[in-house]
Amino acid sequence: MGSFLEDVNKQINGVDLQNCYHCQKCSSGCPMAAAMDFKPNEIIRMVQMGQRDLLLRSSAIWLCASCETCVTRCPNAVDIPRMIDILRVMSLDAGVVPHDREVIQFHESFLGTVKRGGRVNEPIMIATYKLKTGTYLKDVGVGFKMFLKGKLSLFSPRTKNRKAIRRIFSSTAKS
Ligand code: SF4
Ligand code: SF4
Repeated sequence: MGSFLEDVNKQINGVDLQNCYHCQKCSSGCPMAAAMDFKPNEIIRMVQMGQRDLLLRSSAIWLCASCETCVTRCPNAVDIPRMIDILRVMSLDAGVVPHDREVIQFHESFLGTVKRGGRVNEPIMIATYKLKTGTYLKDVGVGFKMFLKGKLSLFSPRTKNRKAIRRIFSSTAKS
């Protein structure tokens, strides 16, 4: 078995993480950086330094929105969202519980609705998340404001080809 860095680089199968020279352009443009316990370039540094356990327990790897702003800004085209996807899988495989458990529960709620209907259904996703976390009244005010502004829809259309969605989920599921 290789080092943590070698393992991650092998799975990225693209630009080597050692190409990062920590200019921090990724972190300064990341819309989620303020909420992360480790900034995008710090995540790379931790992979380089072999800080596997600490990183796999972090909330940062679950807060990334996969927006790809960091890749666009990076002078070396380091694929941070790809790296973060790999770290998420490693975290789940290792059965690691992140410091902020609610982040995982949000991901599970989101993917659950996509699996059922092919698209995210916001009311079902929120209800599932609230049941999982017991945070029934948290963010009610924000949710209500979003609803009034038309940012939350009560109904979402289902994807026509739901068989294809099921195939995607079953082909990526671990046996
Ligand atoms: S922008 Fe690229 S080179 Fe600069 S710190 Fe981020 S990943 Fe590293
Ligand atoms: S892909 Fe993730 S790490 Fe990169 S800028 Fe977007 S939220 Fe930040």
